Amino acid sequence: MKLLQNKVALITGASRGIGKGIALKYAEHGASIAFTYLSSVEKALAFEKELEALGIKAKGYRSDAADFAAAEKLIEDILTDFGSLDIVVNNAGITRDTLLMRMSEQQWDEVIQTNLKSVFNISKFAIKPMMKAKSGVFINLSSIVGINGNAGQTNYSSSKAGIIAFTKSIAKELGSRNIRANAIAPGFIETEMTAELPGEVRKSWEQAIPLKKAGTTDDVANLAVFLGSDMASYITGQTIQVCGGLLM
Ligand code: NAP
Repeated sequence: MKLLQNKVALITGASRGIGKGIALKYAEHGASIAFTYLSSVEKALAFEKELEALGIKAKGYRSDAADFAAAEKLIEDILTDFGSLDIVVNNAGITRDTLLMRMSEQQWDEVIQTNLKSVFNISKFAIKPMMKAKSGVFINLSSIVGINGNAGQTNYSSSKAGIIAFTKSIAKELGSRNIRANAIAPGFIETEMTAELPGEVRKSWEQAIPLKKAGTTDDVANLAVFLGSDMASYITGQTIQVCGGLLM
């Protein structure tokens, strides 16, 4: 059963990792895919072709999610190219990990701008067509460290906690317009972001996970398909963890 037939979805930061995994699953479920990227130009162009080969409409946009004006242009371009916008997955994110005593102002600002301000930027312009259509879905990528905190990640954890509060706030503001907003809080998922971690850190994470393994991008994408579909039509304002039981 194709759960996202006739839906147009925007997925930010889908040139690799979780965003790419979500875009692929969305395409398999019949959605048209608009996606963004910033530095991975060749990967993004190849991915656009990979999506089109699945028989759906797909287009990649080079657009910095942290840039307010770029977000306005992005949504305008998507509406011109696709005609509507049903689902927004705010996924683009970065880490600049270090202990607070060593963290520079730049490391703080970059993470807050890319991870949190981006969600404001994209959502601010995406709600217009959704309010007009009296229908829409936001899925925002948080993290379990946005719930629990993490040493060495004051910037990242704060951005991810902010995303949860933002998600609940727009769920309250826009519920009467039939616009839903939920957050996904992954734990430890195998991507380039987690590949940077030293071997011993990985091992200690895996030991602490009740299911004894890292998650995959598919584990997150399966939830994103459900939340984006009409099967989740009475679910809003929630934060759902995909973490193998690491945080209960
Ligand atoms: P990743 O492999 O590092 O990929 C990040 C993606 O975001 C890339 O496609 C990148 O595009 C894009 N991106 C970064 N900055 C951008 C910007 N300013 N504008 C547009 N796109 C930008 O990361 P991931 O592991 O897939 O993580 C995806 C999301 O899940 C993030 O929000 C992350 O915080 C969250 N998350 C991940 C984990 C995990 O274990 N992996 C756990 C919890 C939460 P370019 O390469 O083209 O720049």
